[in-house]
Parts: sequence; C-alpha cells; structure tokens
Amino acid sequence: MNSADTMAGRDLDALRAAIAGQVFIPGEAGYDQARQGWNRAVDTRPAVVVVAGSAADVAQAVRYARAHGMRMAPQGTGHGAEPLEPLDGAMLLRTTRMRTVHIDPGARTARAEAGAVWQDVIVPAAEHGLAALAGSSPGVGVAGYTLGGGLGWMARRYGLAANSVTAAELMTPDGDLVRADAGHESDLFWAIRGGGGSFGVLTALEMRLYPVRELYAGNLFFPLRRAAEILHTWRDWTATVPDEITSLAHLVRLPPLPELPEPLRGRAFIVIEAACLGDAGTGAELTGPLRRLGPERDTFAMIPAAALGQLNMDPPQPVPSQGDGALLAGFPAAAIDALAAAAGPDADTVLSSVEIRHLGGALTRPATDGGAQPSIDASYLLFAVGATPTPDLVSAVRAQAQAVKHALAPWHASHDSYNFNQTAGPASAVLPPASYHRLQQIKAAYDPDQVIISAHPVQPVRP
Ligand SMILES: Cc1cc2nc3c(=O)[nH]c(=O)nc-3n(C[C@H](O)[C@H](O)[C@H](O)COP(=O)(O)OP(=O)(O)OC[C@H]3O[C@@H](n4cnc5c(N)ncnc54)[C@H](O)[C@@H]3O)c2cc1C
Repeated sequence: MNSADTMAGRDLDALRAAIAGQVFIPGEAGYDQARQGWNRAVDTRPAVVVVAGSAADVAQAVRYARAHGMRMAPQGTGHGAEPLEPLDGAMLLRTTRMRTVHIDPGARTARAEAGAVWQDVIVPAAEHGLAALAGSSPGVGVAGYTLGGGLGWMARRYGLAANSVTAAELMTPDGDLVRADAGHESDLFWAIRGGGGSFGVLTALEMRLYPVRELYAGNLFFPLRRAAEILHTWRDWTATVPDEITSLAHLVRLPPLPELPEPLRGRAFIVIEAACLGDAGTGAELTGPLRRLGPERDTFAMIPAAALGQLNMDPPQPVPSQGDGALLAGFPAAAIDALAAAAGPDADTVLSSVEIRHLGGALTRPATDGGAQPSIDASYLLFAVGATPTPDLVSAVRAQAQAVKHALAPWHASHDSYNFNQTAGPASAVLPPASYHRLQQIKAAYDPDQVIISAHPVQPVRP
C-alpha cells in the first residue's frame, strides 16, 4: 500500500476544514516542498504532511492523528532530520509557519513559537541589548536545538540553551495543551530541557536572554598544512582560558564559490574561531598566544552579538549533507595526531568541515534546577560533515564522517551529543543513563503508545 492509499477513508477534508494551515498527501502539488527539510539528503515520504499555522492547528493535527491511529513527527526546519526514522505511514507535522517571537526586555526573556529559527529571536533581542543562547547557525530552529541541549557561542559562560528555558507550551499526545514551567508539569518541564522531542508537540518556548550587546569575536585562518601545530597550541591554550571564552578549531575545505572572498575561495584552512565576552583589550590579550602563531587572516573585532552567526561559516541555504559527531572526554596530543591523520592536509577526504569545540566552564557544572542535560561530562566535541550534492556521494561521505569519529574513539566520552549525533538510534546513546531512565518513565506517562516520532527516541518504561 502506498502512502496515498494509507490516507484513503481518513476524512482529510475534515482536517483541512479544521485548520488554518495546509495539508498535503503524496501526489498533490506542494507535497514535495512541504516534506522537504533543510538537509536535502533526507528523503522522507510521510503519509500526510500538516503545515500548522497555530497552536490550534497543532491540536487539531494531534487529535486527527490519534483518531486515525497514526504516529506523528513534529518538525521545524529539518536541520536535525538525519537521525529521524523513516516516516512511512506517519504524519509529518511542520511548524515552519509558527515563527512569532515576543521579547520582554524588562524580564529579559523571549517567547518563541515552535517554528521560529534563531535569527527570529536574535534580531529583536539585540534591539534591547540582549542576546539568546543561539548556536553557530542562525537558521537552525529554536525548538529542535533547545530540546537537544543547545550549544552556542556563550556556552562556557551561560551553559546549554536548554537550561535557560523558563517555560514550554506543549500539546501532549492526548491532545491537551499544557504549560510546563517551574511550577507546573514538573516532569515535562525537566524532560524538554535537553531530553529531546519525544514527549509531545512543542508550540512555544520561553527562555532567558543575557545582557550582551557586543563581544570580541572572530577567526584566525591558517593554511591547513599547519593543522597539527595549530591544534596542539589551541588545545594547550583552551586549558588556560576563562569561561568568558568559547572557541573551536575548524578544519575547513572551502568550495570554489564566487561568493567567497578571493583569498578563501577553494582553499583549505585550519581556523580558530572564538567569542570572548568582554572588551577588545581583554579579548586581544587573551587571544594573543594564538595570534602570535602568525595567522594568514585575522578577523577578530568587537562585533554585535547578533553577528555571531557568521563566525562558523555554516551554509545558510539548505544543503544535502551527511555528518556525525561525538563528545570527547579529552583531546590529548595522541588524539590531535589521530585527527590530523584522518582529516588533516594529507587526508584524502570529501569532508568539508571537521570541528572540535571546546566545552568545560559552565557546561561541566550542573545547572541549578536544570533539565535532562544538567551538564556535559566531556571536555571537547567533534563534528565532521560533508556535502552530498548527488545521492551517489551519500555513502562515501557518511563513511568518511564515521571514519573520523572512529579515529577519535579512544577519547569518546561515555555517551554522545544529542544535537551532534546524526546516527539514528535511541536517546540512551546521547544522554546520561540517569536522565534516560527518568525520561523513559515520563514517556510512559505521557506517550505510552509512542505516537510521537522523534530523533533519538525514548522507549517508555513504567516505573
Ligand atoms: C548547519 C547546522 C549548524 C548547527 N549548529 C549547532 C550548534 O551550534 N549547536 C547545537 O547545539 N546544535 C547545532 N546543530 C544541530 C541542531 O541543533 C540539531 O540538528 C537540531 O535538532 C535542529 O533543530 P531544528 O528544529 O532546526 O531541526 P528539526 O529537524 O526541525 O527538528 C529536530 C528534532 O527536534 C524535535 N522537534 C522539532 N520541533 C519540535 C516540536 N515543535 N515539538 C516537538 N519536537 C520537535 C523533533 O524530534 C525533530 O526531529 C546544527 C545543525 C546544523 C545543520
């Protein structure tokens, strides 16, 4: 039975009439566009796609799915679609039209609807001299990023974005709209702060903002042939820096695109990227040891917090790609040598980007009243990715990303990173065991029939 047949007799007209958003089934104009997420390499074919326009639409979609015995996958941008299971026979519930954001400058909070991307929050927050704990790409969705933890440019100072969430509005699989915060639905409030999207359909999130108008940030570009030397110096330097500095080392092979500046176009670099909370003088002094290595290009300056999204050179447009990541317990000299061999100047690789992010600082201290990821018990994070413009490249790129991950296996932490692990598998692989066991009980209470399909699912277990 194909997906269109799956919907036969399921009274789609009633769903269409009940919602302000749109409904598509296979074969209809608009279906292919509606099912397509940011990562163009992921080709899911759900039985029906609902593009919700509001929380009321989400409620209708959830009740429809329940009434017709369907499972459903909530999705915003589709940046995190890679680890998702196939959606055959299921509903894909897109929140892409739900992007309203409200900033409360007095309370220093933001309320973002579930389809908002970070750019939607960053820009209005900056008008009040406030910054959100966004990640490296402003096009990533607030919901998926935060549900999975959320590691951004101020993470060593302010921790994971999930632990700055103050409230969530959520449609439970039973079709009830609930508000989870410090005083209500304590289990759900704990679960959605880093435990992923297994517990219902988020319709809005509220979060703390921070008084950061500008900061000292930029990139130091060195030719890739210096990868090992630069990585060793950067690693030693990371052991000395205060929590105000969050940095990463990036092995990047840039494509020969005309929109890139001529000195960068088509070349390979090891780039040290850093954001330093504080003034230019302090930032320049703290980054001095790296600058003394003689970078070919130095872009450090005081920049508006809203410009942090340009630092990592993440592609703004949808890209077909394959990648994978791992948390690292350490990054000693032997690990650097292993990385340089797997992805450095002499490696025969199609990976465009391999990065090591420095963790520690606030990330290692359990957040007060934190959620399912109260802290990260790892010192660094690896992420390797390559573009797959044609389907025949998928397996080669995936194998190379896995090979880089495998090369650092001796230094892997006890579990993986929720947001950076791109391999389909249970949440037990990407969360601390104690958190996973509590999430299993919460899943059993709210979604025992596993109606919600999530990246890194949680198996329900009764206490
Ligand atoms: C270019 C790029 C840069 C990135 N940079 C960072 C970074 O700096 N830091 C970091 O931590 N991560 C980063 N990531 C990883 C990213 O945070 C995850 O891929 C995340 O899942 C993306 O969230 P999304 O909402 O955009 O994606 P989606 O694919 O839309 O959602 C991912 C998952 O989140 C859940 N979800 C989404 N919306 C809802 C909802 N309304 N209700 C319930 N569940 C929902 C679902 O389980 C869904 O499968 C990056 C990814 C990319 C591709």
